Formats: sequence, C-alpha cells, structure tokens
Amino acid sequence: MSDAPADTDCLFCRIVAGEIPAEVVGESGHSLAFRDVNPQAPTHVLVVPRRHVANAGEFAEASADELADVTLLARTVAQAEGLGGDYRLVFNTGAGAGQSVFHAHLHLLGGRAMKWPPG
Ligand code: AMP
Repeated sequence: MSDAPADTDCLFCRIVAGEIPAEVVGESGHSLAFRDVNPQAPTHVLVVPRRHVANAGEFAEASADELADVTLLARTVAQAEGLGGDYRLVFNTGAGAGQSVFHAHLHLLGGRAMKWPPG
C-alpha cells in the first residue's frame, strides 16, 4: 500500500478518521465497513481501505493483502447480516462506470434477488 496520507478532501478518509459520522458495521486493522447512505438493497455496505487509494486497480497494485482484507471483511459482514453466501461485491472504477467517490470501496449488496447481467 502506498503511504499516501489521508486526503482531507476525501469523504471516505474523513469517515475513516471519524470526522464524518457513518453507521459502522465492521472493521479490521486495514479496513472499515459502514452502511451506504443511499442503499440499493436491504443490505448495502461499503468496505473501504483505511488508507487512501483511488480505485480497485490501484488498490490491488499497492497491496494485494489489503485488498484481500477488504474482501474478507465483506464476507464477515455478509454473514453477520444473515446473507450466508448470497451477496454481490462491486468495485465501480471510473466515473463512466459509476464511481463517484475516488477512494476505493467495495459495495456489499444483498438481501434481495440480484439480476444478472446488472444493466
Ligand atoms: P460509487 O458511486 O461506486 O463511487 O459509490 C459511492 C457510494 O457512496 C454511493 O453508493 C453513495 O450512496 C455512498 N455515499 C456517499 N456519501 C456517503 C456517506 N456520507 N456515507 C455513506 N455512504 C455514502
């Protein structure tokens, strides 16, 4: 992982720092999980690395271990939410694909039927 300091203009850095409130549902040494404010499913949680990195590709390049940590925390939260093994994980990458916050975050979605392809 890069040693980039928290970006004071970054919404998710500020949530990680506790400067902006969020409903935290899980955490690990490297990652934080909190509910999305505009949920698209009964369970919609964002799992983010604590350190700032812009998107999933940069995240993987910086630290495969910390990328795995985000994925494992998503599984832990899914189990705590009663989803069992039925959930969707999404990294939107780039504005054209719907990324609006440029601090990597894994969407954990579940609790309803998930169509595929997503459209
Ligand atoms: P994306 O569009 O993939 O970048 O996802 C950003 C997500 O952040 C969206 O689903 C938003 O609803 C969510 N979001 C924006 N602001 C907050 C916030 N303050 N707390 C929790 N989720 C947020």
